[in-house]
Amino acid sequence: MSLSVETLAVTIGDKRLLNEVSVAFASGHVTAILGPNGAGKSTLMACLAGLMQPTGGRVLLDDRPRGDFERRDLARRVGYLPQEADVHWNVDVATLVGLGRFPHRGRWGETPEDRDAVTRAMAATDVGGFAKRGVSTLSGGERARVLLARVLAGEPDWLLADEPLANLDPAHQLDGLDALRRVAAAGAGVIVVLHDLNHAARVADDVLLLRDGRVVAFGPPDQVLTRDLVAATYGVDTHVGVAPGGRRFLIPTERLA
Ligand code: ADP
Ligand code: MG
Repeated sequence: MSLSVETLAVTIGDKRLLNEVSVAFASGHVTAILGPNGAGKSTLMACLAGLMQPTGGRVLLDDRPRGDFERRDLARRVGYLPQEADVHWNVDVATLVGLGRFPHRGRWGETPEDRDAVTRAMAATDVGGFAKRGVSTLSGGERARVLLARVLAGEPDWLLADEPLANLDPAHQLDGLDALRRVAAAGAGVIVVLHDLNHAARVADDVLLLRDGRVVAFGPPDQVLTRDLVAATYGVDTHVGVAPGGRRFLIPTERLA
């Protein structure tokens, strides 16, 4: 399983949202995409998800252009949780998570595998306690967990999640990171947009830094989450330390001129 972009470009009017972006994502890895607001992170995710047509370059899935695949096949292979995901009708939580299985549904309806996948996804995101509640009665963070559960339930080969942890409390952020790690450990590729450098340090095998639609760096966290590259990407100075257990942590200390 492979997913890559080659010299990807997106131009709208005279604005270049992405420029010469070439990355080969690894299955079995969590790739964290980081960069300032407006860097092009969501644009890249939308191209990977097939919701936006690049104006240059291409997206390759198993070395074939994305457009060669049949829609239902793509839906099974690639799961996407958009940044502004929301639910516009009031279904109950279990039903909504079950919709994540839709690409797998055969003519005989729900199978035991479908039910198991939904149960696992709900456990991973700790939403079982409100399985029967209407989604519109949940808090923003609870709803974000349910939406993550829906995409997990689909068990895609490639899981794309755009800032899935943004509304979550610290405990559920850790749950979310663990869930993404488990997905990768099971062999899938996970591509996740994060804003928290420490979340990236914790979860990522590879980090992609974007700025102004271009790749600043791509590689393992120890090589990419450095004071210099973080400064080049975000324009902030950071204190980089090593936490007990050996994982690095980063504290932004000041904005650079
Ligand atoms: P990120 O997710 O990294 O914050 P986005 O990929 O959403 O950034 O957007 C990248 C840049 O493209 C931003 O400056 C945004 O304002 C701009 N942009 C997004 N969509 C459009 C559009 N339809 N027309 C013009 N500019 C856009
Ligand atoms: Mg975004």
